[in-house]
Amino acid sequence: MTTLDQLVINFHMTESCNYRCGYCYATWNDHSSERELHRHSGEVERLLDSLADYFLNPNPLQQALGYRSVRLNFAGGEPMLLGDRFVTALNQAQACGFETSIITNGHFLDETNLAAMAPQLSVLGISYDSMKAETVRQIGRQDRKGRGLSRERLTRLALLYRALNPEGVLKINTVVNTFNWQEDMRDLGIQIRPDKWKLLRVLPVHDHSLVISDSQYRAFVERHAELGPMIVEEDNQDMRQSYLMIDPEGRFYQNDEAGKGYILSSPIRQVGVESALTQIPFDPEAFARRYQLIPLQAV
Ligand code: SF4
Repeated sequence: MTTLDQLVINFHMTESCNYRCGYCYATWNDHSSERELHRHSGEVERLLDSLADYFLNPNPLQQALGYRSVRLNFAGGEPMLLGDRFVTALNQAQACGFETSIITNGHFLDETNLAAMAPQLSVLGISYDSMKAETVRQIGRQDRKGRGLSRERLTRLALLYRALNPEGVLKINTVVNTFNWQEDMRDLGIQIRPDKWKLLRVLPVHDHSLVISDSQYRAFVERHAELGPMIVEEDNQDMRQSYLMIDPEGRFYQNDEAGKGYILSSPIRQVGVESALTQIPFDPEAFARRYQLIPLQAV
């Protein structure tokens, strides 16, 4: 039996985003934004209640993994694009007994909303791929007006989160791809000292033009390895079947092994958590391995 302290569920609350990253995989098969749960009064609340009933009580997955807490990680798309609807969901998830966290592109984070949210975020994850304006443009990590997250703003937000929640975990996610694999961001790491800097290799799910070779990915990882334990690599293989993920319509999903999109469960609200879980491939061993590679405080 494998054990881990915390189960993490990623709830991709919306497909919408203000950025246009070329590798973005936040698009779901047959998805309609009209069916996103947050558009329907009470639906997100009902989903969170169902998840709490299942995951926060004894269940087969808990027996297999031995987890003691569950963190609900809000992702997208860009969850902060939803404004109050996101904040309400975050508050409710906390009230249900989940630990809560977010992965955001940082665009809508400011001093005011970060001050309100920081105490509730046991992990603040910010996705950030490049310090160079031209690379940001090539990747598409910017809005229609060409505005992305600058190094200066990222640094300010990171320091503010640290001050507001000294126990919280600061995480940076970088997707290594065709345009940034040669970049050197070591001094950024030294400056903001995230607890965890996850280097994800771009997934060949939708746009294959950003895909890199093994040696290109290795070169990026090795260049940044001197930053020490904060650096966590996540190659394509590590990502398969090792996340519990829910799409904006409230369905579990997994990346298809053949890299051709997603395998989706029925809506959790219709069939229940237990039945929906059986409809997707999920490898508890891979999940536990991924989280055992790194110290708990850095997860
Ligand atoms: S910021 Fe994230 S959700 Fe938005 S386009 Fe980029 S990868 Fe997709």
